[in-house]
Amino acid sequence: MDVRGKRVLVVGLGKSGVASATFLQARGAKVTVSDSKSEAQLRQEIPLLLDKGITVETGHHGERTFRDQDMIVVSPGVPFDQPQIEQARKQGIRVIGEIELAALFVAGHVIAITGSNGKTTTTSLCGDIIKAGGERTLVGGNIGTPAISFAEQADADTWSVLEISSFQLETIESFRPEIAAILNITPDHLDRHHTFANYASAKERVFENQSASDYAVLNADNEPCVEIGKRLKSQVLWFSRLHDVRRGAFLRGETIVYRDGKDQEILSVNDMLLKGAHNVENVLAAVCVGMAAGVAPEQIRKAVSQFKAVEHRLEYTATVKGVEYYNDSKATNVDATIKALESFAKGVHLILGGKDKGSPYTVLNDLLHERVKTVYTIGAAASKIEAEVSGVEVVHAETLENAVKLASQKAVKGDVVLLAPACASFDQFQSYEHRGRVFKELVRSMQAREQK
Ligand code: ADP
Repeated sequence: MDVRGKRVLVVGLGKSGVASATFLQARGAKVTVSDSKSEAQLRQEIPLLLDKGITVETGHHGERTFRDQDMIVVSPGVPFDQPQIEQARKQGIRVIGEIELAALFVAGHVIAITGSNGKTTTTSLCGDIIKAGGERTLVGGNIGTPAISFAEQADADTWSVLEISSFQLETIESFRPEIAAILNITPDHLDRHHTFANYASAKERVFENQSASDYAVLNADNEPCVEIGKRLKSQVLWFSRLHDVRRGAFLRGETIVYRDGKDQEILSVNDMLLKGAHNVENVLAAVCVGMAAGVAPEQIRKAVSQFKAVEHRLEYTATVKGVEYYNDSKATNVDATIKALESFAKGVHLILGGKDKGSPYTVLNDLLHERVKTVYTIGAAASKIEAEVSGVEVVHAETLENAVKLASQKAVKGDVVLLAPACASFDQFQSYEHRGRVFKELVRSMQAREQK
């Protein structure tokens, strides 16, 4: 595709918008960017774009800006059914997303990972597996580097491993990953997709341009994935934690087995540094991806056994006085906290709270009763949590600092202190990353005092 001299509008100035705009400008397009945020909110991005000769519109989306274009590239954060975009499409202007732009310009092999949960973990792990297989590997998409940035780096032999969100899939046309995985589909983002069926269909689009030489990796334990598997043209590799599969990866006792004609033992779950049943699922999916990409089982085993949790995702932090500390600050909803709790049999000191997201905490009660010694509440949601949880001791800690201090005083050798707060962070922190970093600093300074 030649964009020289073409008028292209990039809507939305997030990371992927900036990457798309600079890429297109470098290829000779006449680029305009439009963002409804104010100039003040975008003061970091704007000078960079103006320097490159890109026209910038802020504070609104002008009607004319959308009308006078040959193509529009929409960022994943911008609703695709926004009136100006609908109008442009009606006028016959081509409207695509950043992933489609990447599909047009990024050379080489593409692996796409999507799903409601586990995308970042599985994408990073797949990147390590492909790298272990000796291939030139780029990892990005919805995490880290936007896919379009790979256009300048990837050649025919490069493997790009991309985390893809359902929003990004809404705007594809020709995007065709040779290996694509849906890890699971559970209710999420219904504010944007309106219905579960719409959300599931957006995810299914990751397979839409695949043919019989491509691979679809699907969760055999997740009903929406099973339904999708029935309709595909590509070769389906299933993964299951609960039973064996026709073709794909499953558990035999504690061994991960890959079946494709014959059965091959890949590794034991005891070789994994990752914790929890949900991570076994992520590893099973990554094994399918690695095998489909032709990586040797031994290299897959090596990559998986060295793979540590991605930061803030049930991340082991330290052991102080025989007590293990885990940072799962990314557990920003009740469901993720359940997954975290299921990863520890007992003796948990759980830090809960932050900005409430409207889901009931009562669903935690069975697990709290079974596995948790004490709950420490922090932040704005504390009183709601205190009213709803039962069957466990609850201590009002107010702040994360106090919670860590109180938990470290109460915990005995063999216990676990877990930050899996089931809430957003914005009441006391800038982000879940900030909250996780504060937790780790508190634990590490305690550890340093201990070692003196
Ligand atoms: P995503 O990128 O899809 O948000 P992450 O790898 O960042 O996924 O994990 C986010 C949270 O989701 C983690 O804290 C963990 O509790 C939970 N999680 C990870 N993998 C899975 C899975 N396969 N199934 C369910 N929950 C998961």
